Formats: sequence, C-alpha cells, structure tokens
Amino acid sequence: MFYTREQTKAVKVGNLIIGGNAPVSVQSMTNTDTRNIPDTVAQIKRMEKEGCELVRVAVPDLESCHSLPLIKKEINIPLVADIHFDYKLALKSMELGVDGIRINPGNIKNIDKLKLIIKSAKEKELPIRFGINSGSLDNNIIKKYRSITPQALIESVNNIITILEEVDYHNVIFSIKSSNVIDTVEANIMFSGKYSYPLHLGITEAGPPFSGIIKSSVGIGILLYKGIGNTIRISLTDDPVEEIKVGYEILKALHLRQRGPNLISCPTCARCKVNLKEVVKKVEKSVVNIDKTINIAVMGCMVNGPGEAKDADIGIAYHKKTAILFKKGKIIGKFSDKKIITKLLEEIKNI
Ligand code: SF4
Repeated sequence: MFYTREQTKAVKVGNLIIGGNAPVSVQSMTNTDTRNIPDTVAQIKRMEKEGCELVRVAVPDLESCHSLPLIKKEINIPLVADIHFDYKLALKSMELGVDGIRINPGNIKNIDKLKLIIKSAKEKELPIRFGINSGSLDNNIIKKYRSITPQALIESVNNIITILEEVDYHNVIFSIKSSNVIDTVEANIMFSGKYSYPLHLGITEAGPPFSGIIKSSVGIGILLYKGIGNTIRISLTDDPVEEIKVGYEILKALHLRQRGPNLISCPTCARCKVNLKEVVKKVEKSVVNIDKTINIAVMGCMVNGPGEAKDADIGIAYHKKTAILFKKGKIIGKFSDKKIITKLLEEIKNI
C-alpha cells in the first residue's frame, strides 16, 4: 500500500498547487545564465507558451539572487530558486522574493544551516523542495550501503524528515532522482509507502533527447500509472521547451492531462501508397499552435485506417492515391492525395 497522488498533502508554490487533488503539473528549469535577465525571461516566456507551470532557475551566486525579483516581475508562472552548497543563497533568495526554493541536502550537510533555511521558509510560508539526487548523496550513506541504492536514497529522505519534524515544518515536496531508472522507480515507491508529501518525479541526467525521452517516459510513466507523482520534470540535454513538450506527451499518453492535439498515425508498410511520413510532418507542423484538445488520425491504408480515423475527432485513411476524411465518426468525403491535407486542416480549424 502507498499514498496515491490524491492522498498526498497539497503544497502551494505561488499560484500552483502540487499534490492533493491537483492535476499533475509540468515544470522545467532554465539553462540560461540567471544573471542575464533578458535571456532568462525570454526563455521562460517560451516555456510558458508551451504550457510550463513552474520554472526553476539556478542560483549559483549572490548576483543571481538579485536577478530573482526582476525575473519574477516579468513572468506569469511560479519561480523557484535552485540552490546548492551555500545556505546563504537560499536565505537571500527567500528574502528577495521567490515562490519557493529547491535545495539538495546532499550538499548542504550542516544540520544547523539546513535548519536555518527551513525556519526561514516556515516564517515566510514558502515551500521547499528537497531534491535527493544519486549524484550527490551523502558519503556516509553511500559507505553504509556500499553503493547508491533505493534504500540509500530513502535514508537521505528519512534524515530530512526527522529535521522537518523537529522544526515542525511540512510545506515541502520531495524528489528522489537517480540516473538509474529502476532505482528511481523503487525509491519513489518506497517513499510513497511511508510518506504523504507530494512527489516531484524525474530521471536525473537522463541524457540527450533520444535516450533521455525513453528513460524519462519509462521511469515517470511507471510511477504515474501506479498513482505516484504530483509534478514532473523531464531532464534533457536540450532546449527546456522540449522538456515541456515531452512532459505533456507523457501525461497525455496516461490520460492525466489533455493539451493540444494528439496525433495518431501508423508506422506504414507495403500497403501504404503515399509518403505518410511527409504528410504526418506537415500536419504536425500545422497544428503545433492549436490549443484544442483533439485526436487527429493520419493512417496509411484501409486495414486500420477507417477504424482509427472514425474513432478520432478527425482523421484520414488513405486508399491508394485517395483518402477518406472522417469527422466525429462520420465520412465527410473522399479526396485526392493532393487535396486531402488542405481539407483536413480546414476541418480541424472548424472543430
Ligand atoms: S494502417 Fe495500413 S499502411 Fe498503416 S501500417 Fe497498418 S496496414 Fe500498413
């Protein structure tokens, strides 16, 4: 048995609720220099446009702390300061105005300093995310378990929870991330069996887009399907806007969130007589800015084509060099391959 996402505590980060009955949110982190305010704001704006619901910025020095209120003024989503090593940066960020902080207990080891951060957050009613990360686990814990195991990750969590109980502060979110997908899954299941704090899910250092998307989808997908996880961040060595897109695709696949079009297309085979890859690319590009939640099917032949196209809100099924257009389960007409894309896009606009 474990706490499912609906049974977790609800934690407010700015205007976003994480946990409880709130939908699973999608967040990301900028990769600009936080001291460069125009670049950072511009990147956050692009992330917002893609549906990002919370943004984290790295705060490696005092100058970055001073950027925080100026960045916050320009954006519409909650701003979280990402702090490592220096507890003073956490205190300063909270003083200057952020919606929350993320700290890594693996590199702020002094308990008194950690308590100072927690007490200050308590005073200001700001949430903290404790990010437990396989890459920066306390050496004593690694020695005890001889390697980084899910149990070792959970021991780090237990230590934090003891401190939180002492300070009586519970406005917190946890993340337990490893670059090893199985360890991440197991550690998060163990956490949910014990604690009802909301969970931020992610696979750390997941890698370049191709492998990173697969690792994240498998790890985060397993947990979300089990009912674990309240907010997600996909870590990719790429533009953070791509992380948001992948995040929503994962949530859409699990029917947890709906956003924009859902494209259904077949892999093609010898029965397909058109260049379906090009057709799908064109359709994908044309609907990228549509906010409507619609299922669009683009199918290569009459084997599975009519079934999928009928089932979608709108769809086409090719038959040799012509295609049948379906809308809400009904046939709209039969068109040549030259006309079908224009017709499909026209009908999508009218939905
Ligand atoms: S729908 Fe037709 S073209 Fe597409 S994969 Fe199936 S059989 Fe092949």
